[in-house]
Amino acid sequence: MRYYQMSKSLIDKYGVKTYKLPLHLEGTCPNRDGTIAKGGCSFCAEGAMDFELLDAKLPIAVQLEKNMAYIGKRYGAKAFIAYFQNYSATYRPIEELLWMMKQCLIDGIVEISLSTRPDCIPTPMLRELKKFSDRYAVEVTLELGVQCLNDEVLKNMGRGHDARTSLDAMKRIKGAGLNLGVHCILNYPAMERGDVIDLAKACSEIGANRVKLHSLYIEKGTRLGDDYLKEKFELCGYEEYLERVLLFLGYLNKDIALERFFARAPQETTLFCNWSRSWRYLMEELEILMDNRDFEQGQCRRNHV
Ligand code: SF4
Repeated sequence: MRYYQMSKSLIDKYGVKTYKLPLHLEGTCPNRDGTIAKGGCSFCAEGAMDFELLDAKLPIAVQLEKNMAYIGKRYGAKAFIAYFQNYSATYRPIEELLWMMKQCLIDGIVEISLSTRPDCIPTPMLRELKKFSDRYAVEVTLELGVQCLNDEVLKNMGRGHDARTSLDAMKRIKGAGLNLGVHCILNYPAMERGDVIDLAKACSEIGANRVKLHSLYIEKGTRLGDDYLKEKFELCGYEEYLERVLLFLGYLNKDIALERFFARAPQETTLFCNWSRSWRYLMEELEILMDNRDFEQGQCRRNHV
């Protein structure tokens, strides 16, 4: 393969086909509840990521079992990751988080993945998560919303944290012996190719295990959506986005797995997503580019480490 696919990395790690099972959990984040801000990030529509999830009122183990039965049968998966997907999973008392994680310890679950913000993971919490991982022999991954490492862009996103906080969190997660997944956006307005290289270099140097790339999508009712309708910014085209993906991969270590390149969003609530092209079409275009250029993940690092 020209890049390290997440599916392959999970077979390498667990020996069998492994799938992620998203959980629907009640929660919030400090960028919504007023601790840092009230409006949330410019692109975040509250509840938007719930569109493929089960009822949040179902107990955690029941959600996992239902999804496991469906996905196991449909895709032939033999092992599973319990994924705390919505809001900031670690923005709750550690006792509550550990209690929730214990509900995930059912047959077939080999990993628990917690999606969160860089400013929501104090070091003592990371220590407790590592203890949990060792005690119950289950892998724990922190999926960090880094998005970009350009402070001006982060400010425009209304993230409420800076790049230094992200870099510090990435290092502390790895330092605690936990797995690190990094979420990045490569095409937020005003982002440039240099920002893409900075992200890839940081992931490589800190030793991220996985990266999830989100092509920016724009939801109705968000600040970004309002600005989009008022034509306050321009988005790069999909050809430029594909170039940025290749640039990012070129500077990314070969052993970092790629979970995703393009966004998924519900059509009814979305103003812009993937340049109105299908995920399959964009993937094919990306693969053609890779073949034409005889591209390999990490090829730029050989000359620039
Ligand atoms: S994207 Fe994450 S950090 Fe930002 S408002 Fe939404 S839940 Fe909070």
